[in-house]
Amino acid sequence: MKKKFSVARGTNDILPEEVSRWQTLEKKAHEIFRIYGYKEIRTPIFEETALFARSLGPTSDVVQKQMLTLAKSGQGDEEDKNIFSLRPEGTASIVRSYIENSVDKKESLTKLYYIGAMFRGERPQKGRLRQFHQIGVEAIGPGSSNSYLDAEVITLAVRLLSEAGIKTFKLKINSLGAPGDKEIFAGILREKLKSHLNHLCEDCKDRFERNIFRILDCKNKECEKVVEHLDLGQSHLSQESQKYFKEVQQALKVLKIPFEVSPLLVRGLDYYTHTVFEISGEGLGSQDALGAGGRYNQLVHELGGDEKGTIGAVGFALGMERILMATGERTTNNERRTTNLDVFIVSLDAVGEKKAYEAAFKLLNDLRAGDVAADMSYAQGSMKSQMRLADKTGSRYCLIIGEDELKEGAYTLKDMRSGDQKKVKLENIIKTIKG
Ligand code: AMP
Repeated sequence: MKKKFSVARGTNDILPEEVSRWQTLEKKAHEIFRIYGYKEIRTPIFEETALFARSLGPTSDVVQKQMLTLAKSGQGDEEDKNIFSLRPEGTASIVRSYIENSVDKKESLTKLYYIGAMFRGERPQKGRLRQFHQIGVEAIGPGSSNSYLDAEVITLAVRLLSEAGIKTFKLKINSLGAPGDKEIFAGILREKLKSHLNHLCEDCKDRFERNIFRILDCKNKECEKVVEHLDLGQSHLSQESQKYFKEVQQALKVLKIPFEVSPLLVRGLDYYTHTVFEISGEGLGSQDALGAGGRYNQLVHELGGDEKGTIGAVGFALGMERILMATGERTTNNERRTTNLDVFIVSLDAVGEKKAYEAAFKLLNDLRAGDVAADMSYAQGSMKSQMRLADKTGSRYCLIIGEDELKEGAYTLKDMRSGDQKKVKLENIIKTIKG
């Protein structure tokens, strides 16, 4: 027996009957981005590992534990072997491309979006995959440092989720402030957590040293208990940062977007400054984050694209699998159809002959050339089996070609919804089908 292969753990086939739900979501996203003035960008799915380490931060969980690094087989320098990793998120690649193409010289604000697969070597569980898909945006440029743009980006995420059919979700926002404020905040946290170290999980003990903010995100019950009692305010924020955060909140209020300020929300990646936000859904279990984002004013500078440090950015990423899980609705009948055929051709020959079949094949190609979605059976089965197939495809019409039809030069066109049928001359078929 030959070994049968299975899809890799934490990855999924998206089968034709499911693909239509994805296409519907993607179509909505493209349309909403057009309305908001965002342009699509497509970057490679792998980049230099160092790019991710530098942008996400070498101590982030993603870089430390979840990178899927490519091992190049065959000859080559040892160094050349592990230098690439599959992208765990979209921001680093987009900022790399922004810098590489000197986009800041062309415009002061660049609004980009992407839709695509991301990869993380996490332990797979419900809602947590190794290959998943994100819809995201990045608004980058010297002209991006405006609190109203933060509000636009948040509003855009909310609009996408609403249009995707998610009725209830929770938006939490917070501000980490400028890099200086972040350092002060780290100091405050260290002071407050020092006496609780014994109650923290092993991971968080480690995080205390290398990435203290992540402790606030830990899902361990004991850690959550410690964190709940920390009584964190916004006192670490400078006056300027507080003003900025107030403006973001005010803009959201003006647009009537409900939100909650959550001092515990920090996000685990190094690159965030000022506004951070997270949107969670209902009924998704422990993996309930639908999307998240924030401002990252340091990243272009960190990646060597901005000597003066004046190019800011703000963005988000939404998880497509999570959105589709949250909308939960089953695939509709319309979507379940794997084809949207206008016409299915049924041909009937005497045994051993292929006259009708040949005519059907020729007509099939003429119909397609005339932009009519058409198909036929390649099995040359009985009338009954071909009709059954026509029905299964959900085709609008069925066209029957038999000996009589060939002689007459007129084929039988059956309306699959009403059951009505009539003879149509060859030259009128396309016109009749297109109505
Ligand atoms: P993150 O950059 O981790 O905040 O991811 C943004 C969004 O992508 C999350 O809110 C999830 O909806 C989705 N996401 C992240 N990681 C995964 C994963 N491993 N599997 C499925 N969805 C994910």
